[in-house]
Amino acid sequence: MIDKHKHWFKNVFNCKLCWQFSVWLFIVIFIAELLLLVPFYTLFRKEHIALFEKNALEAARVLTADYTLSHSEQLENNILKFSAVKGGILYDLEGNVVKKFGINPKVSPADFEELPVINGQFYYKDDEHYYTLWNARELEAPFEMVAIVDNTHLKTTLSDFIKTYWSIALLLLIVLTLASLLISYYLLIRPIRNAYLSIQRLEGNLPSAITYIDFLPSNELGFIFNVVNTTFSKLQLTLHELHQKTRELNILNENLEIQVDQRTQKLNDANKALAAMALFPEQNQNPTFRVNANGNIIYANKACKTLFHFWSCEKTNILPAEWIQVLNAVLLSKTHKQIEILVNGHAFLLDFIPIVAENYVNVYAIDISERKRIEQENRFLQSHNPLTKIFNRHFFKLLFDEKKSKSTFFGLLFLHMNDYIPISQHLGQAVADKFLQHSAKILKSNISKEDLLGHFSSYLFAIAAYHCHSIEELDNFALHLISIFSREFIIDSYTLHSSINIGIALYPTDQTDTELLFQFADMALLQAHNVGVNTFQFYTPEINQQLLKHHELYQDLHRAVLEKQLTLVYQPQLSLHTNKIIGAETLIRWHHPAKGLISPDEFITILENSSLIFLITEWLFETAAKMHNRLKEKGLGEFRLAINLTAKQLNQENLLSILIKTIEKFSIKAKFIEIEITERVSLTEPEKCIKTLNSIRHLGFQLALDDFGTDYSSLKYLQKLPIGKIKIDKSFVENVLEKQENQKIVKAIIQLAKELNLKTLAEGIELPQQVELLKQLECDEIQGYLVSMPLDEKAFEEFCKNK
Ligand code: C2E
Ligand code: CA
Ligand code: CA
Repeated sequence: MIDKHKHWFKNVFNCKLCWQFSVWLFIVIFIAELLLLVPFYTLFRKEHIALFEKNALEAARVLTADYTLSHSEQLENNILKFSAVKGGILYDLEGNVVKKFGINPKVSPADFEELPVINGQFYYKDDEHYYTLWNARELEAPFEMVAIVDNTHLKTTLSDFIKTYWSIALLLLIVLTLASLLISYYLLIRPIRNAYLSIQRLEGNLPSAITYIDFLPSNELGFIFNVVNTTFSKLQLTLHELHQKTRELNILNENLEIQVDQRTQKLNDANKALAAMALFPEQNQNPTFRVNANGNIIYANKACKTLFHFWSCEKTNILPAEWIQVLNAVLLSKTHKQIEILVNGHAFLLDFIPIVAENYVNVYAIDISERKRIEQENRFLQSHNPLTKIFNRHFFKLLFDEKKSKSTFFGLLFLHMNDYIPISQHLGQAVADKFLQHSAKILKSNISKEDLLGHFSSYLFAIAAYHCHSIEELDNFALHLISIFSREFIIDSYTLHSSINIGIALYPTDQTDTELLFQFADMALLQAHNVGVNTFQFYTPEINQQLLKHHELYQDLHRAVLEKQLTLVYQPQLSLHTNKIIGAETLIRWHHPAKGLISPDEFITILENSSLIFLITEWLFETAAKMHNRLKEKGLGEFRLAINLTAKQLNQENLLSILIKTIEKFSIKAKFIEIEITERVSLTEPEKCIKTLNSIRHLGFQLALDDFGTDYSSLKYLQKLPIGKIKIDKSFVENVLEKQENQKIVKAIIQLAKELNLKTLAEGIELPQQVELLKQLECDEIQGYLVSMPLDEKAFEEFCKNK
């Protein structure tokens, strides 16, 4: 409580406004009281003098009334004793003094004309006494009276009045000041001070420390404070925006500064460039000069030095005569002229630009040595293989045509580098490229000077062997080439085995036309391929026939695939353990409408070399699945059917989806379908192939390796391939009874298969003795004419029934 008061006092004491207000209030009340004193005092004095006068008159009346009385003396004493009248003189109506008593006044009634009237009958004498004149009417007697009235009592009363007035006034002054202070404090000062303190607390930090005026009285002040609060809020918002804007402005400013810097930099660069330009053509590396019609050099930049030295005109400053001719010609024709010259091994292009009006010529020279070199290089590349720097097909042909007419006999050899593709696939392009460069080197060093060597495509080289004048010589040359390429090469620490095939066409024996001669050499090469590696073939008309046939078959095959001329036959497979038919290999047949039945050996490669092969993959699996289901439905048993796939088919993108579709569509278990691949198939892209085979195996299909032992027989891959069976090629079985060697091979294959946990099937069984032997060698299954020829659907069904 005390604390609260202390606080209040402290507040008021510290409040300047309070002080100012109180002082002013005090002064105002004081002045008001001072002003009020005069009328109060006048009134009070008037009233008291009137009363005083009345009392004096009453005493005078008594005196005059009693004048006749005998005891007038006593009465006189009483009047003087008990009233304020201190003495007087009675006059009769004629103005004669009738009686005097007490202190006699020194004035006569006539003197009253000049005396100042104080109040009514009273006239001023001195501080302590008044004179007064009462007439007969006032005294109600036949007398007039001049009296002296004692004033001291009145004086005391008036001074008492003043004292009382001021004591009350002072009290009132204090009380009123305090009361008004209190009221104004509560009504005015307190809210204002609160507002002041609130504002003071803000310390000018409006945005960060907002404390608005929280005391809002319900009067005009409250309204004002509310306005102040709103203004603060707005101010704060504005300030906030201002800060934001300032920040943005700063960023803009920074960016602007950066831009200005950049612009300045650019401007500097531009100025530098301009300055450099101003020096142009002085700084131009290319010779630039101006010369008049007489050959006088008017201007030349520094770069002209070599040129002028070459023309020996450094000192004379006059161009050689032949150039003056050029100048005149240019000026005459009014068109520019370009001339190429060689100066100390550098090629220059001089551009003569005539300025006809001035009669002089500007000459701009450019060193075009580099351009010339590139042009030369391009010309070389247009005519040479970029890798081996040997003539390409186009240029070879041009030279070939040119030389052909001058020759009487020569052979055109096409050489195929058989190992280029496997090398690039297995060891990478870089090694393959080096292999080709190495081959080119060998070829270059093994041909005669007059011969023409060409490199047509990565694996195809050509030689126009002009040095061979007979077929025998060509024979020997081809054999020589084959022998040098069948050696081992060491490239990038790889030991490479290579082989080539050669096709030869003879000029003019086979053909004189270049185009046809090229075709014949190509055909002969194809034929050499068919024969085998490291062979050469001369072109013969039969080759042509064969290729034509090949082409025809290819055309017919298109229709065959679309018109379903292809069918499958089934060659049963027998288990040597149970002596029962366990399945069959499906083999394709082509019923040609005109040529009859065509063997797969004749058309499988054509199919494989075209994309037609993709069209039969799905058909193969569907047909086999249908056959399986047909036998199953007829209660003949569930037979495993083997399908032969080529390399292309194995890499066919939708192979796995075809397999899945087959087992789903025909509800056949995957284990009843076996896929036969050859080693050659597995070797094209081993990693990819193994991946696909694993997926196939994962789906539950069986895998068999066909024609084992005939091809590369890479034991390295055999281990990696996820196969379950090896099919021993019929070439081993054929003479197994007679040839000990074959028997040993078959035995070894079976042993190897056992080691690798693989089954074995021997193909091409034609004799019962072969069966006996294979049983001894613990072969698992057999297939061959002895068991059955390949059978069509119906025949195979019958065969299964009878077994
Ligand atoms: P392959 O896969 O080795 O098929 C076995 C070939 O040997 C078949 O010849 C078959 O008729 C024949 N053969 C079966 N048993 C004997 C026998 O006891 N003695 C003899 N000398 N031969 C027998 P085909 O049907 O002419 O097939 C030849 C080749 O054509 C097949 O050899 C196979 O590589 C390919 N081929 C056949 N059908 C297809 C097929 O549907 N797809 C693929 N990609 N290739 C197929
Ligand atoms: Ca086969
Ligand atoms: Ca086979």
